[in-house]
Amino acid sequence: MRDRLRCLRNAIGSNRKARVKWGLPMRINIICPQCSQATGGYAVFHVEEIREDGLYTGKCPNGHDLLVGTQTLPHEMLFEIALNAIVDGYRREAISSFSSSVERFYEFSLRVLAKHHKVDAGVFSQAWNIVNRQSERQLGAFVFLYTASFGEPPVTINTKMVELRNNVIHKGALPNNDDVLKFGASAYDVIQNGIKKLRDACIDDVNAALGDRVTEISSKMGSQYPRSFQVTPTALNVIEDISAGYKSFNDVIACYRISG
Ligand SMILES: [Zn+2]
Repeated sequence: MRDRLRCLRNAIGSNRKARVKWGLPMRINIICPQCSQATGGYAVFHVEEIREDGLYTGKCPNGHDLLVGTQTLPHEMLFEIALNAIVDGYRREAISSFSSSVERFYEFSLRVLAKHHKVDAGVFSQAWNIVNRQSERQLGAFVFLYTASFGEPPVTINTKMVELRNNVIHKGALPNNDDVLKFGASAYDVIQNGIKKLRDACIDDVNAALGDRVTEISSKMGSQYPRSFQVTPTALNVIEDISAGYKSFNDVIACYRISG
């Protein structure tokens, strides 16, 4: 418990005083603004399922109405789902979600790099529509836009791990614990290597792409109030400063009490 709490606090950031009530199993923790105001700390609301639109509605344990947006990116949510799938013993689903997380990370990178090259948003949409339905096209776009931008190819999922993923997803293979953790570690390195490079080379474009995501989520909030926006404590978080390096996958899974 104490370890997971420390990991959560680290993820939230040391500059915020977070007081946390922990609920297992963890999915995603949403803070109720009204409870926070009343207690002077932060109350944590346990939500069953991570939502793709990043928008959470419902009631906190004290009955306050909630309308909370998160700035969590799709690849970050999928990675979280994969880690939770391991905790729950769903290995095939974990590999599938890790794989989808990497694909959505490629999309986010393409959005950042397009901004870096001053591609108009409408033009980007036209180009994206051409590759939208096929992940192999998206991978190709990522590899070459990254290479053209930085003069070196990106880290991607290696052939052995691609075979593992294909066997699991297309041939119904049942992965063992070791397979899942190896695939997870590979996905983690692909994403964190890429995010580190993007942050180092074009942080303004990373922030602009993140801003687009926040705008997209707020547009779904309509005119409903009260509302709030939060940074959720996820294993991957694009706003985290990893310029000096990022923590190992083993340290990440230790926060989820996952062991090899
Ligand atoms: Zn509340």
